[in-house]
Amino acid sequence: FDKLWGRENLDLLRERKVIPPGKLEPPKAVLSNEHWAKLNCSPDLFRCTMTKIPETATLLQKSRLPLGLLIHPFRDLSNLPVIQCQTIVRCRACRTYINPFVHFVSDRRWKCNLCFRVNDLPDEFMFDPVSQTVGDPSRRPEVKNSTLEFLAPAEYMLRPPQPATYVFLFDVSHNAIQSGYLKVACDLLLENLDGIPGDARTQVAFITYDSRVHFYCLSEDLSQPQMLIVSDIDDMFIPCPDNLLVNLRGNLDLVADLLHQLPQRFEETHETRSALGAALQAAFKMLSPIGGRVTVMQSCLPNAGPGALAVREDPNLRAGKEVPTTHVNPATDFYKKLALDCSGQHIAVDLFLLSSQFADLATLAGMSRFSGGCIHYYPGGLSIHTFHGNFFVRSTDLLTLPNVNPDEGFGVQISIDENLTGQSNVCFQVALLYTSSKGERRIRIHTLALPTAGTVPDILASADQQTVMGLVAKMAVDRTLNSSLTDARDAFVNMLVDILSTYKMTQNLGSSQGMLLAQPSIKLLPLYTLALMKHVAFRVGVSTRLDERVHGLNQMKSLPLDDLIRHIYPDLYPLHHLSDQFVTGEDDEVVMLPPRLHLSYEFVDGNGAYLLDTGDMFIMYVCKGITPQFIQDIFDLPNYDALPHEMSDLPEVDNEASEHFRSFISHLQSERFMPAAFLMIREDSKNRGLFTQCLIEDRSEAGSSYMEFLQHLKTQVK
Ligand SMILES: [Zn+2]
Repeated sequence: FDKLWGRENLDLLRERKVIPPGKLEPPKAVLSNEHWAKLNCSPDLFRCTMTKIPETATLLQKSRLPLGLLIHPFRDLSNLPVIQCQTIVRCRACRTYINPFVHFVSDRRWKCNLCFRVNDLPDEFMFDPVSQTVGDPSRRPEVKNSTLEFLAPAEYMLRPPQPATYVFLFDVSHNAIQSGYLKVACDLLLENLDGIPGDARTQVAFITYDSRVHFYCLSEDLSQPQMLIVSDIDDMFIPCPDNLLVNLRGNLDLVADLLHQLPQRFEETHETRSALGAALQAAFKMLSPIGGRVTVMQSCLPNAGPGALAVREDPNLRAGKEVPTTHVNPATDFYKKLALDCSGQHIAVDLFLLSSQFADLATLAGMSRFSGGCIHYYPGGLSIHTFHGNFFVRSTDLLTLPNVNPDEGFGVQISIDENLTGQSNVCFQVALLYTSSKGERRIRIHTLALPTAGTVPDILASADQQTVMGLVAKMAVDRTLNSSLTDARDAFVNMLVDILSTYKMTQNLGSSQGMLLAQPSIKLLPLYTLALMKHVAFRVGVSTRLDERVHGLNQMKSLPLDDLIRHIYPDLYPLHHLSDQFVTGEDDEVVMLPPRLHLSYEFVDGNGAYLLDTGDMFIMYVCKGITPQFIQDIFDLPNYDALPHEMSDLPEVDNEASEHFRSFISHLQSERFMPAAFLMIREDSKNRGLFTQCLIEDRSEAGSSYMEFLQHLKTQVK
């Protein structure tokens, strides 16, 4: 009976395999109203750290679980109802949008489910657009969908919708050219020119920079793109008013010419300086009348003009127990200020940092964090191949997120200020107002309803452990930046000990000596916590470059939950015998799904091949003892010795094994927000550490083994 309710006791010290072989499904909220349960918001979009909300703040405190929400509001949806109407119905008191969980007092009035005020319905709401009839308001799409989008009427628009506009900023200093990225980036852009989101009005501009800033005139009257150079980088200006930002469709040939020429143009450069700040100011000036998206490709520490930075990382301290808080925080507020100016003008800045040297990501990240942009970091070496065209040119959809504080990303902590006793459900609603790449102003709404709980065991049983870890990871980033890394790491363990102690207490088991008890809803917390403490963002004892750590911290803040969990605890699959377990993928293709393995050498067979899915990378690890047949099937090579040490493309070989493997990869790819790069490494490759450092359940410089960690927890749990 207890097992049925997910309440059976597990002794974590005996239960070696806590990771399920298949997908870990999010726990379901059980609403007493069956109709509501069917309409509830998808956990892919909106998840709470518990599927039952404690009735009081005291109960929440006793449970020791953090209460919060993780939101992935812009996830691609196959079926999103879009509504066009004159009046968007909202509560007059609290501005909540009408949703499936409201109560209709009569045909003409509804009671808000957040503040309980009774509101009138407009006449328009009586009309059902689907059946084209007048009558029952509960037939409206607004009350039949917990996720939907409104085409905003004029009052939501401060100005006419803008065309999609992109400015590309390329670092062309010596280092940048040496890294070879410019060719890859230009080729990718060329491939994707047709795919850039937008319409016939889409505009583009290109700026390159070293110690000077170069603009490109793309006028229809020219036979060739014309370069204009500004040397006075301390007082940036735009050298000519027209033809720098041009209509893409109308100037496709010139744009393509430029992208072909750029990589050669700077081949021989000896410029070691990089005036990123000045180039950003130029892009800001160019875009401020209309807004748009800036894509920055930077490959070294900006060291000229405004926003120049100095080297401040001490390589000797990379494995230290503590990172100076000043080093994980920005050195100057130049980039943050610029980003805030950008945000005010509807400009988002995406940063691609490709640097094998220290480039001060802690400071540079400000340009994206405060403008609603994204950060991609490629720490040299393997990096160049891992760009992907389709996220290199992203839509301008996400320009302004006025209802989401960019500081908090998409994680929100919640406190209970008033008792919810007597209330059987609680609702949460997020609304996002934005401009689509087709120039429409839209509002996307998500509403989530959750039941309440009146006892601690009930709350613990309702824990959503992945969401708990997602929220805790975000909280730990703040703690690292504001206090210290040690504090953040201590907080992980303290929370875990508190939760397990609470659980033990509520179970009232006298004879639990020698055991570490948990129930299914919390059984992964110790494993995930250990993984977090060994993650590049929070680890100590292992040499960690400052930019890498800062990037890890940024990702904790911004990744959607599925990707975040994969980052913390990557998925490991055996490839040498793809199992009989399969699902039907897109186009009725059969996809083989090998069972997921725990991240330990215990499960790595020297005769095997493995796939490690870290979220942004698929690392294929091939062991020496693999059969020649496998190498032939997958790589079309005779044997292990013929295999290159590393390979970043997966060959298409015409046989069943290769097909199964490739459809498995594309199945994994189809489930994520951003495509992952592929990298095959041999067991004896110098980069094997990329694989082995992910085996976080084994003891390493980064910390104890999973079993040792559990033993330690056992001594702490009261
Ligand atoms: Zn209200």
